[in-house]
Amino acid sequence: MAKLTEEAIRPSELMTKQKVVALADIGRMLSKYEAFVAVSCPACGLNEATFKFVKNGIRYVDCVNCETFFVNPRPTPEVLAWFYQGSPNYAYWNNVIFPASEEVRRDKIFVPRVDRLLELCNKYKIEKKSLLEIGAGFGTFCAELKSRNVFSRIVAVEPTPDLAETCRGRGLEVIEKPVEQIQLDSKDLFDVIASFEVIEHLFAPADFIGAAINLLKPGGILMMTCPNGKGFDVETLGVISDTVDHEHLNYFNQESLAKLLNDKGLKVLECFTPGVLDADLVRNKALSGLFDLSGTPFLQRVLIDEWDRLGSVFQAFLVKQGLSSNMWIVARKV
Ligand SMILES: [Zn+2]
Repeated sequence: MAKLTEEAIRPSELMTKQKVVALADIGRMLSKYEAFVAVSCPACGLNEATFKFVKNGIRYVDCVNCETFFVNPRPTPEVLAWFYQGSPNYAYWNNVIFPASEEVRRDKIFVPRVDRLLELCNKYKIEKKSLLEIGAGFGTFCAELKSRNVFSRIVAVEPTPDLAETCRGRGLEVIEKPVEQIQLDSKDLFDVIASFEVIEHLFAPADFIGAAINLLKPGGILMMTCPNGKGFDVETLGVISDTVDHEHLNYFNQESLAKLLNDKGLKVLECFTPGVLDADLVRNKALSGLFDLSGTPFLQRVLIDEWDRLGSVFQAFLVKQGLSSNMWIVARKV
């Protein structure tokens, strides 16, 4: 199977138009800047952070305690709800990019994601009766998982009406409201709660995790993915990393995310970075002239001159050492 590349999941022809709608979205978000509010660290709660950089008019800071970096001040939950409801960027992703790249996304992202989730369930001997995915989006993960016939019940939480409709169209059971508003009897709690690339978008990740815990059976597990703020592409590219965008408010690292889950009463089982795109992302920025490698001959050699020989082993090193920018965490409700 051909390996996953940035081009495969973000076709460049489509991404040019996407840049235009994303800029429109940044303008919409900035139009509410006066309603942004100051927050303390979303991971450890400390209210002491140093200026990091400004990107597209949005200010990022570093927590001096846990090294999480985050948008501060940030849009309120009300501004975020307004922002996502009317987002031309999201409409473009949902109507054009996801449909055009869905097959390759399923093969390269969702099939491995389902495989990994099932491996983790086996490893930790989790009952496979029920699974809840929070932020199901297009429903690709739930549909792929359903096709494996492992869980008796799979439920998609998707508050955005258009996306919820798409999920229902695939025959999925959907709860169309924010997770914070869901209440369940104890007999209806879930063995597994999964949430992929959601917490980096949230105003208050701690509240979201609290809500997820309320829907989890004792002994059940929560699995989440999000960017690793201390991963290779994010740290190397910094302000020009595409991971650093106006929608991503929180950039946890392995330690800070584990601390947050611990503080909420979960037992962290493992945290790892299985990302495959870091080297490709930095290489593409260099090849497109947006990132200068002339001051870093080592990176020039690995990412450009000897790419065929070193690219994949370098990425494998990043994964093994927890240095990729894509992170998973698995925690149990005790
Ligand atoms: Zn912190």
